[in-house]
Amino acid sequence: MYDVAIIGAGVVGRALAYTLSSFELSVALIEKENEVAMGASRANTAIIHAGFDPTPESMMGQLSVEGMRRCYQLCEELDVEHRKTGSLVVAFEESQKSVLEILYRQGVENGCQGLELIDGQETRRREPKLSEGIQAALWAPEAGVINPWEFTLAMAEVAVRNGVVFMPDREVTGLAWQGDHYQVTFSLPEVVQARFVVNAAGVNSDLIHQMVATSAFEIVPTRGEYYLLDRTVGPLVHSVIFYSPTTQGKGVTISPTIHDNFIIGPNSEIIEDRSDTGVTRTGMDHIGEMAIQMLPSLDLRANIRNYAGVRANSRRGDFYIRMSAEHFLDLAAIKSPGLTCAPSIARLAADLLEEAGLPMRKKSLWKGGRRVIRFKEIPEEERQAFIKDNPLYGRVICRCETITEGEIVAAMKREIPPVSIDGVKRRAGTGMGRCQGGFCGPRVLEILARESNRHPLTVEEDGMGSFILTAETKGGCAHD
Ligand SMILES: Cc1cc2nc3c(=O)[nH]c(=O)nc-3n(C[C@H](O)[C@H](O)[C@H](O)COP(=O)(O)OP(=O)(O)OC[C@H]3O[C@@H](n4cnc5c(N)ncnc54)[C@H](O)[C@@H]3O)c2cc1C
Repeated sequence: MYDVAIIGAGVVGRALAYTLSSFELSVALIEKENEVAMGASRANTAIIHAGFDPTPESMMGQLSVEGMRRCYQLCEELDVEHRKTGSLVVAFEESQKSVLEILYRQGVENGCQGLELIDGQETRRREPKLSEGIQAALWAPEAGVINPWEFTLAMAEVAVRNGVVFMPDREVTGLAWQGDHYQVTFSLPEVVQARFVVNAAGVNSDLIHQMVATSAFEIVPTRGEYYLLDRTVGPLVHSVIFYSPTTQGKGVTISPTIHDNFIIGPNSEIIEDRSDTGVTRTGMDHIGEMAIQMLPSLDLRANIRNYAGVRANSRRGDFYIRMSAEHFLDLAAIKSPGLTCAPSIARLAADLLEEAGLPMRKKSLWKGGRRVIRFKEIPEEERQAFIKDNPLYGRVICRCETITEGEIVAAMKREIPPVSIDGVKRRAGTGMGRCQGGFCGPRVLEILARESNRHPLTVEEDGMGSFILTAETKGGCAHD
């Protein structure tokens, strides 16, 4: 019997698990995939939004600025890669200029600081490669970029260190209220009991809601596709550049990543299949066109990967956060800026759970904080000492990103070890560069199998069933 079962290990479920881990509570975090951050939390634009987009009366408006500030604070406390870059929303015509004015007023009301409306000339002074056609822009100095996987993982690691039980590979198929607790059932023959249940199931949050309450909202899965450009193309821009938003969303963005690559996208397309993260020629063409309008010198041939994420949009146009049934809390329809708002959503969720009767007593001992060794960032003079201490730091596995075997092995020893090649990528950064794992993939597979004492045939690329090797061809496998 757990005090709280959280369904969904995306950034929202993880932020809540992190928050609850500082109280005397038993918490289970249930996830259908084999890893954390397998939904929208891994495939997004990775922007810490300043908070001018949502209207002040919306829940998103009320949670944005608090979320943004807490994001930066958590990134410092948990050693998560991030950078405050500022953002520009650019306008090419009069109608778009009036949108900027609306955003400015909303931002001021939401509590954003340092917002400025600037003309085209000033915009190009700050970002010289932007188009001559831009007439005005809204500057928001508090926006930034983040490593969204690391953010989710970092909160997860601290939560697990402080007693939260992570239960991957369990798809919730049923919830039954038993008078004083819920019985949570899965696709596996197994049951979890919990006094409170929190629905943080992202794009499936309406389906989980309907297991205990009448339908109150419907998720309209909306796909956003992207180009990822190699860093050799840059520097293109220093800040995040948004095309003036439309009713469809925030508009196409050109953004530096924390690893100095560039993300171009997303578009916005309603789809039937909630799990469809494929990219399309039409989507790519649309994104390319909009981006080139903002940045005429953009060379899309520097593309090293395309990907897509699915937004948990609802027709209500806002987050759906409330106690919807006895001891059942919805953290549902968490669309953009849900990554930025995750910490403030978690704070609100903890308040709502307490109001609903969950006893919240602070733990006397809580182990916070987190540090990661990023070998390439260590000053040259200190590297030798590191290698002397642990020769694995002297073996570079990923040549594009200069990631050493020492970093991979360290990732394997953390609170939630990776179970797949992409899991190593998300923790250590292997395969993030130009060759996208073409060279280091087989070596990562070997290390993963060796360190987790598994047969190489059982190692997956990413989600469940994505095996890489199908059979031995020459016999004599060292792991037999
Ligand atoms: C294209 C795109 C761009 C975005 N850009 C930004 C941005 O730049 N900045 C920003 O702040 N926000 C952005 N967002 C929004 C942000 O990514 C999301 O709001 C946030 O990641 C949502 O987190 P979540 O935990 O609610 O959902 P998810 O990350 O989707 O997590 C939900 C989890 O629930 C699990 N699950 C689902 N069903 C079940 C079940 N039955 N049983 C068990 N587990 C289940 C899923 O596997 C998943 O891991 C963007 C979103 C998209 C899609």
